[in-house]
Amino acid sequence: MLPIQTALTDIAFAQLLNQCSTAPPPNILDAIQFAAERHQFQRRAGADVPYVNHPITVALILQRVAGVTDQNILMAAVLHDVVEDTGTKITEIENRFGKEVAGYVAEVTDDKTFSKLEIKKAQIERVRAASLGARMIKVADKIHNCYSLLSAPKEWDRVRVQGYACWSLAVVNAAFSNMSMKETAQYSHLLEMFYMIGSLPYYDDYLKARILILPATDRERTEMLKMFYLSLEK
Ligand code: ZN
Repeated sequence: MLPIQTALTDIAFAQLLNQCSTAPPPNILDAIQFAAERHQFQRRAGADVPYVNHPITVALILQRVAGVTDQNILMAAVLHDVVEDTGTKITEIENRFGKEVAGYVAEVTDDKTFSKLEIKKAQIERVRAASLGARMIKVADKIHNCYSLLSAPKEWDRVRVQGYACWSLAVVNAAFSNMSMKETAQYSHLLEMFYMIGSLPYYDDYLKARILILPATDRERTEMLKMFYLSLEK
């Protein structure tokens, strides 16, 4: 089939590039090519767009909103889902992009041997203890995932949409916990963007009404998070 032939050609071509003696150290374009190849048969959940649009956007959020210029963090942002979603090994990331990039990717990769609920709870605790780069990748990831909820499929109920947003907020809060004032100030625009997206309304097909991505009060958020966790146990 044509897509597989294309994939083989891309892999072979990337290897050819890597063998070139004048090739510079890997940069963001290498990461984009690698992620595009690995995610090539995946689409975003509930939307008919190529999956790779997501990790590229996560890197763009870090660069544009938080002013991140560290190439290792930006490359890791582009690669943040390849291990979790495509079976790529961390060692492969390390060989192609170096230890630091592989380290960030490992920090933001879920352990899929856990149950769905355990994965969600573990993410909050793991991000709290993660490096600053990994924390910010996680926050940008949640920003884009919550933005994508605006076009959630009709069959996604309120718990799936608002519950996901409430859990995302818990992850974002954990990412910003134990930060120095300087770091908090440096990345505050990410927090602002998360809340801005959370305050946008989406159309809920069950309620036949527009409701906010993120419930407005702490009490509603706590309730919705509980319901979200319960829904994952089913
Ligand atoms: Zn992601």
